[in-house]
Amino acid sequence: MIVRCASALSTRTPQGVIEWSVATFDSRLALTVSFGGAGVVLAHMLSQVAPWVPVLFLDTGLLFEETYAFKNEFVGRYGLNVIDLHPREDPGPLYETNPDRCCEIRKVEPMAVALKEYDAWVSAVRRDQSPTRADTEVLELHELDGRELIKIHPLAYWDREKVWRYITENAVPYNPLLDRGYTSIGCWPCTRATRPGEGEREGRWSGTGKTECGLHNFTRKSD
Ligand code: SF4
Repeated sequence: MIVRCASALSTRTPQGVIEWSVATFDSRLALTVSFGGAGVVLAHMLSQVAPWVPVLFLDTGLLFEETYAFKNEFVGRYGLNVIDLHPREDPGPLYETNPDRCCEIRKVEPMAVALKEYDAWVSAVRRDQSPTRADTEVLELHELDGRELIKIHPLAYWDREKVWRYITENAVPYNPLLDRGYTSIGCWPCTRATRPGEGEREGRWSGTGKTECGLHNFTRKSD
């Protein structure tokens, strides 16, 4: 099933992929949005066809004030069914000494718990965001706790220019930090504005060698 669908979906528009996802998985589908980047494009598309689908928002406790304010504004405007996720403990400034473990506690663990309720997970990962994301497919078969989890990336083949064209043409609001030099926005201790010529995600964990929080790898099948 996955191979047949993956092939058919690779030529659909992101809106078409969203519609297929809703029709296929219904209430077993969830979208994750950080309200820091292109996820608002998917949230906007979803609001047009199925605003009742759960939107998972990972509140690490260390997001920018601008992100919290923008999330509230966006959700109020589009009437999304947002579910806030929180870490089960506050590890303090663990990001200073062990950012991988900090991301596990603040991001991966709460997401893993939440995703147990769903069969399919939609996210805004794109191939052009970074070399670590260059092999992203629209439809991927992942695994969580020994069961299959379908991962859906409607924007896999869109580039930054297409994302911004959609935002502009549809007057979609976006995080105000994106107008202040930030090109990818996560927790404030691990995010800086990028400089001209830098990659979109080079302001994340800058100077540490870390490039991903682990959210998009922990469900990958090992074989
Ligand atoms: S991005 Fe930084 S502060 Fe946020 S969870 Fe990861 S290490 Fe911790």
